[in-house]
Amino acid sequence: MNHDSERNLNNYQQLNIKDLITLIRQNGVTELPMPTSGQTIKVASTPCNYGGCRYWLVCPQCGKRYGVLYFKDDRWACRKCQHLVYGCQLQELPYHAYTKYFYKAVRIARKLDTKFNPCLIDFVQGYRQIFPDRPSRMHWHTYKRLADEYFANCTMMAITSGVTDEFTVKEYRQLWLKQQIKALEQSK
Ligand SMILES: [Zn+2]
Repeated sequence: MNHDSERNLNNYQQLNIKDLITLIRQNGVTELPMPTSGQTIKVASTPCNYGGCRYWLVCPQCGKRYGVLYFKDDRWACRKCQHLVYGCQLQELPYHAYTKYFYKAVRIARKLDTKFNPCLIDFVQGYRQIFPDRPSRMHWHTYKRLADEYFANCTMMAITSGVTDEFTVKEYRQLWLKQQIKALEQSK
């Protein structure tokens, strides 16, 4: 492996909480013994905003909660402890003004979907399509506010990066109106 692929987390075995939820719920598992490394990985849970709870794997190295752990150098640990990065981060451009707006927009979208995690290149190409849907229990006006903030940052990203070809605030307003009408029709 070259240096880049050595750091790419896609090249390592993963332990994903998503694959373990049934096991955890059905058997009330709170600890996962890992035969290969001899480690015991703790399972944590946090209450969700909209009811129920979310499960996490506790990184044996730093003790923080993560959705995924990686196997590298004979041990399981989180992305940060293993010094791994997302594949697309490796090709990411050096810092530009627009990356600030990118990260702001991502932070806003995560309030709607905690798993929202696009790489910069995917984001620039499809930020309109990937904006998360309204969580069923969130008020429309909250969703609208977050959407406004998200698209304002996307617009700034587009302006500062020179990608001003397609997207405008006006276009977004129309999109928003369409969504509202659709929701009204569905609630009838
Ligand atoms: Zn860690």
